[in-house]
Amino acid sequence: MSEVSWQKGLSDLITDPKELITLLELDPALLEAANAAVRLFPLKVTRELVARMEKGNPNDPLLQQIFPIASELIEVPGYESDPLKENQANPIPGLLHKYENRVLITLTSACGVNCRFCFRRHFPYEENNPGRRGWEKMIAYIKEHQAINEVILSGGDPLSVSDKLLKQFSDQLTAVSHIKRLRIHTRLPIVLPTRVTDELIAWIQQLKFAVIIVIHMNHPNEMTESVQIALQRLRNAGATLFNQSVLLKGVNADVDTLIALSETLFAAGVLPYYLHVLDKVQGAAHFDLPLKTAKKLHAEISKHLPGYLVPKLVREDAGEFAKTLL
Ligand SMILES: *Cc1c(COP(=O)(O)O)cnc(C)c1O
Ligand code: SF4
Repeated sequence: MSEVSWQKGLSDLITDPKELITLLELDPALLEAANAAVRLFPLKVTRELVARMEKGNPNDPLLQQIFPIASELIEVPGYESDPLKENQANPIPGLLHKYENRVLITLTSACGVNCRFCFRRHFPYEENNPGRRGWEKMIAYIKEHQAINEVILSGGDPLSVSDKLLKQFSDQLTAVSHIKRLRIHTRLPIVLPTRVTDELIAWIQQLKFAVIIVIHMNHPNEMTESVQIALQRLRNAGATLFNQSVLLKGVNADVDTLIALSETLFAAGVLPYYLHVLDKVQGAAHFDLPLKTAKKLHAEISKHLPGYLVPKLVREDAGEFAKTLL
């Protein structure tokens, strides 16, 4: 699998609601609201992911995650544009240092899909895109802070960066002796499995740190054979695989789906890590559900799954030292 094929996949995303509606044989009446909603946050989805959606079904759980709808335009009290106050934990562009021993880095603002519930839908990416020049500042910051032992590459999707650039970045990090782990939060092995190239595998194998890859799968329909193969290759390269999901009304907020998700992940060599309650971001209120319901769902799946397949139900609170266990 060459680098060229995945890069082609990333430049050939579906971004026009009309095309998506036609492809999936949806009601053309959905177009007007979709066009209004993409002005706030663009539509972006890989063809691979769309191929897993059911034609003619506006409620498809994968479609729901990426399809722009009218509810996004409604301002709901209590939902903000920067619910996590990330602007306050942003010492240098592209670097977030909220928790003492781990630092979160945004190498790029590009994602393979735009998730409608994304807490970064209003994030000032353009100002926060470090570029190659920004790397030096980030590495210097990490060097200065001895308590940092884990570097987390996060969204935008860090794997939308080329293998060559990933290698150049990690080479600089190798020089920092207090870094023990490199963690990558990515949705690309799911939404574009050809991203797992021979070069990516070779890069992981030569890294001096322990490598953790957190995939973000929200529904078992996201799993296909090619995703399984991609995950298997990452595992064989020595990466530890975890999954993080967001609890989403209309997508996965029911006992059977959550159980199937954990089982599907385990069968592919991935352990559930976090089940996040929604960050209260403006435009995503329609995905939210009461905390009481979330806790009840979590208690219910705990009855049907071994402990290691039950993700931790968490919420991210501004200013806390870790995610809040619920
Ligand atoms: C979530 C998050 C982390 C990682 O937290 P874990 O509990 O270790 O998964 C690190 N930095 C920031 C800014 C985060 O939001
Ligand atoms: S950062 Fe993650 S949740 Fe947000 S749009 Fe990209 S892939 Fe989706």
